[in-house]
Amino acid sequence: MHIKTDTKQTPVVSLANEHGIIAATTWRGQSACQTDAYSGFSLCYYSGDNECHSNKCHQELADYYGIKSDKIYIPRQTHSTNVKIITLENLADNHPVNCDAIVTCIPGIIIGVNTADCVPVLLYDPENRIIAAAHAGWRGAIGGVIKNTIDSMISLGAEQALVKAIICPAICADCFEVGEEVAMLFPENCVIRHPHSRPHVNLPEYVKTCLENEGIAGSNIYQSKECTRCQPLKYFSARASGIKSGRNFSFIMLRENITEAYGDYF
Ligand SMILES: [Zn+2]
Repeated sequence: MHIKTDTKQTPVVSLANEHGIIAATTWRGQSACQTDAYSGFSLCYYSGDNECHSNKCHQELADYYGIKSDKIYIPRQTHSTNVKIITLENLADNHPVNCDAIVTCIPGIIIGVNTADCVPVLLYDPENRIIAAAHAGWRGAIGGVIKNTIDSMISLGAEQALVKAIICPAICADCFEVGEEVAMLFPENCVIRHPHSRPHVNLPEYVKTCLENEGIAGSNIYQSKECTRCQPLKYFSARASGIKSGRNFSFIMLRENITEAYGDYF
């Protein structure tokens, strides 16, 4: 797995760069400060940020990858399990409403999800050239957003045996304390119980289990070791800053021209 934190101003961590597919996540960047929950690089247009700021970051990411800013697709996430397939027919809809995952086989567009502690998952079938980005908070993960996303990929021609998955930076088990009513929804192997405190859930591990249950081989799953809540100055974290804060953007794109270079890490 190719991982490199970009040293240029645009704060992008490359997570995959193979078969004409790029997958990456943003981090807050050098301008992040503790006292401003929106400071740093964030494309999120629905979590209370100044519109000029999110538009500026949107444009900067588009410029970084050499595409127009209307080629970035971000759902208006609602912790649902709904998936939107972007096709040539609905290409004008950059911000599909009430969905938490996007699937496409169209090259040259970035699809991604915003998170601040929830689990972003990027998926790709490099042979059939089908990609997906899903937002899995605990509600969506329990509800089946991972299954729905993979089913949508398969409907476009993807094959489970070929699908690779990237579990991007998200909240770790130590940081994810929940009530018993939430813990009881998860299999016991994803719940950590201590005698004198509330239960903790390992949400990234649960997402990995969901991927494996849908036929994705463990060897095709890359799991980031980074926790957003443990590093609130590097990543946006709703547990650290509240839900009125910026978001990390995890995204994937099929390159139109696989010999074309993006960024400076080729
Ligand atoms: Zn943590």
